[in-house]
Amino acid sequence: MTSPRLALIAHDGKKTDIITLAKEFLSYLSTCELCATGTTGQRLMDETGLQVERLLSGPFGGDLQIGSRIAMRQVDAIIFLRDPMTSQPHEPDINALVRACDVHNLPCATNLATARLVLQQLQALKPSSESALSA
Ligand code: PGA
Repeated sequence: MTSPRLALIAHDGKKTDIITLAKEFLSYLSTCELCATGTTGQRLMDETGLQVERLLSGPFGGDLQIGSRIAMRQVDAIIFLRDPMTSQPHEPDINALVRACDVHNLPCATNLATARLVLQQLQALKPSSESALSA
């Protein structure tokens, strides 16, 4: 069985939330293959001890790298905690990523409540049924 592959991104105003989320699901996330945009990934590693493949920072195209992985079916779920209250000086294109997830029928959580539901469900799934997520 392959480990679930998760991509993590958080706007600056939501980076503390993604750390909180990661700590809540630390045990499960430590069994996953994680990738993240640069700053999000660095904070996750520093503050939770998780192993994370750090892609480029959002302003340098990290979100595009994740979009490519979505298109190539190289990730199983996306958690992109967006901050709807603050305009982003270097707005990673969340609409493009959400669209790519919809095209490929991948779970995409854009807020903490949905992220918790997705992670709870993923960790409850039997290994053999993980592929049912995006079948
Ligand atoms: P970052 O990218 O994790 O490198 O900050 C996401 C963003 O730009 O909001």
